[in-house]
Amino acid sequence: MNGVGTGHICDSCNKRIQHGDKAGLYATWYDEGGWTPRRTWCLDCCPESVYPSTEGADEAILVGVFFSHRLAGIRVRDRSTPEEERC
Ligand SMILES: [Zn+2]
Repeated sequence: MNGVGTGHICDSCNKRIQHGDKAGLYATWYDEGGWTPRRTWCLDCCPESVYPSTEGADEAILVGVFFSHRLAGIRVRDRSTPEEERC
């Protein structure tokens, strides 16, 4: 992945995410558009898993390094896909 554009303020504690800091994202995957970030957190606030998950959406917690308004070196911490939903 080339990186995902994101904000620079933690959604939870309002801490400013500095250039080069690790940060977390909650993002939804679209086949054509790639990851669409919904929330941004500092690493302290980033949850361990997708919660609450959205029914029918392919979504994930992503962790990377904030660099020039983008998150680089992204790793998927947790991912929730519709296929994994249990009845
Ligand atoms: Zn925070």
